[in-house]
This record gives sequence, structure tokens and C-alpha cells, in this order.
Amino acid sequence: MGEINRSQISLLQFLKNFSFLCTWYNLYDESILHINGHIMLTDTFGHTITYLRISVTDRCNLRCVYCMPEAGIEKRPHQAILRYEEIAGLVRIFAGLGVKAVRITGGEPLVRPDLYKLVEMITKIDGIDDISLTTNALLLEGQAEELAGAGLKRINISLDTIQEAKFAKITRHGSLENVWRGIEAAEKRHLAPIKLNVVAMRGINDDEFVDLARLTHQHPWSVRFIELMPIGNQMHWGEGFPAPKEAFMPVSEIKTRLEPMELTPVIRKNGSGPAREYRLKGALGTVGFISPVSDHFCGSCNRMRLTADGNLRPCLFSDEEIPLLPAVRNGEPVLPLIEQAVALKPAGHNLDQDETPARRKMKEIGG
Ligand code: SAM
Ligand code: SF4
Repeated sequence: MGEINRSQISLLQFLKNFSFLCTWYNLYDESILHINGHIMLTDTFGHTITYLRISVTDRCNLRCVYCMPEAGIEKRPHQAILRYEEIAGLVRIFAGLGVKAVRITGGEPLVRPDLYKLVEMITKIDGIDDISLTTNALLLEGQAEELAGAGLKRINISLDTIQEAKFAKITRHGSLENVWRGIEAAEKRHLAPIKLNVVAMRGINDDEFVDLARLTHQHPWSVRFIELMPIGNQMHWGEGFPAPKEAFMPVSEIKTRLEPMELTPVIRKNGSGPAREYRLKGALGTVGFISPVSDHFCGSCNRMRLTADGNLRPCLFSDEEIPLLPAVRNGEPVLPLIEQAVALKPAGHNLDQDETPARRKMKEIGG
């Protein structure tokens, strides 16, 4: 994220004040938002917000041990969840404020009926030039064609293991076969690059890191190892599983498991996100490492999160949220609420001091 200088900050401040004045005089309407289209959303630390992650549902067809308990999950009623038109309306406002990339996530986004319709709506919004999806891929085979047709560009698939029995154990319900078929369907529809997200867990999948990384030899995929975050299911995961705290592995240790392999750093391109990328010799794809806990990337954070029930969450690791849903449904101005939420973005998280968000589960926030 490029630095912004003093005069740019003053201009932004002026434009922000102007937008507040408009609210004060109740002048807020779409034409004013159009003028505001030139405002960049910046947090207190000068980071420009260009990326919105949208959770479209808190429901899921899996129960990954680190994300949710096996049973006792409350389902929110449908009317408590933003409708597609409401989400698209918010994305339009964010696009006017400089957001360029949108990721759809969940819960499991593909369990929400007709997701392609939302993709279609977002694709048509001026200013959004990147729309992607994070999914467990169980239902992807049947939806890849209509999603790609609607304008979806690329896809992240969660895959912690390539062993069928272990997959069923970690996800509690899942069939690996369906995931492979989903990946195949995504390739066929040119949803690329395909990124496979592996949550690294000691004593669970650390014996497979080399095999997972080797997938990149034959496939142009990006296999990304992600540190387990202390958010989601912190209760015991069940028989045969270590305690969540013992399962955590820092990226430094994940890398040592791949040491026999020759990893060459890849020059970062726009869109590689927080991952540090490497390539195995002769490989078609890349291997990435994401360290939200041990070496966090808060200093370059450009994202906001919209929960399925319409709250704007400035930081994954902080429980602070600003509800947008009542304003959206009452036809009230949303921009002041967005600004309020952006102003709440913290300098960084304190996970290393055991400060973890308690109110929300990962499946509600969207990861
Ligand atoms: N259901 C979809 C999926 O699994 O891809 C999307 C939602 S899921 C919450 C988004 C991502 O968050 C997944 O890649 C999942 O592995 C990751 N995730 C969930 N809980 C996590 C945790 N405690 N630590 C690290 N990653 C986590
Ligand atoms: Fe569902 Fe994704 Fe959470 Fe697994 S990580 S339980 S697939 S929301």
C-alpha cells in the first residue's frame, strides 16, 4: 500500500468533513455519494481500504474442528441476514469509496441458494475489478459453471489434508472426493489462480506438508499454509486431537518441515495478499505462508469485513463492529457508519498476549 503525503491527508480530511456536513444537513443522497466517489477510505493510520470480505451466510455444510463445535450451532433466521440486493447496494457504496476487490465467504457461501446471482450483481458494479470466493468446495462441482458465467474470477479452496479419512475427521462431515471434483470443475471454468488454503496443525496435518506442497509440481495452484488462529472453536476438538493451543505452529516451524525441498522466493505481485510466496524447483504452482499470529500483517491491512447479519467489522481479531443492517433497511445514510467503522481499525492485534475476539465465530465473520 503506497504511503500518502500530508497534502493528500488534508484533502481527504476536507472531503470527509464535507461528507459529514452533508449528513448533518440531511443532504445525503446518491448524487452526494457520487461526489464522494473521489474519497478514499483511509483509517487512522493512513491505510487505504480497497478490499471488502463479505460473509453471505453463517451456515455451513461442514463442522471443521477449529472453526465450529460439532453440534449446538444456532441458525440465524433468514430475515436477520442481508439480502443479495442489500449486499450489492453496500458494495456499490464501497466501490464509490475506493474499494476495488471483493471476496465472498461465509460460513459456506455455496450453501446459500443462487450465489451466482450475487456475483452477477457485484460484477456489474463500476470500480470492482476483482471478485473472488472462499469455499470448502463441497458444492463447487455443481456451481462452478454458473459462478464463472456470472463473472467470478478466482477461487480459494480450504483443504487441510489430502487423506480421505483425515479429511472426514477434521471436517466431521466432508468427502474429499467432492472437493477434488470441485477443484476440477473450477479449473475447467478457468477460475484461476486456484489457491488451496491449508490450516497448519501440529499432530494433525503436519505430516502432510511436503505432500501438499508437492501438489504444485503438477498443478498451477498456490498452496498456502496458514497459522491456526485462536478464533473459532477453542474447546477440545474431540478424541485423537491435541488441545487447540498445542496444535498451533508458527510459520517459521511450518517452513522447517519443508526444508528438504528447495523453495525460491517469488516476487510479489498485486493480489498475492498477505502470503509470502515461494516456488519449488520446476513447479507450475507456488507455495505460500500466511502468519496472522506470529508475524501479523496489520501494518498493511487494506480490508474491512461485512458479516452475514450486516455488521461492518474493521478487524478480524477485534470484537468491535458497526451494524449497517438497520440503516440499510430504514433507508438511512450508511456512509457515516462506514467511516465510523474504518476509524475503529486498530493498529494491530494482541493475540500473542492472549487477547482473542470472543463474541463471534470464524464462520460468522468469514475468515
Ligand atoms: N467455508 C469456507 C471455507 O472453509 O473455505 C469459507 C469460510 S472459512 C471461515 C474461511 C477460511 O477460514 C477457511 O480457509 C478456514 O480454513 C479458515 N479458518 C477457519 N477457522 C480458522 C482458524 N481458527 N484459524 C485459521 N484459519 C481458520
Ligand atoms: Fe465451514 Fe469453512 Fe468453518 Fe470449515 S472452515 S466449518 S468449511 S465455515
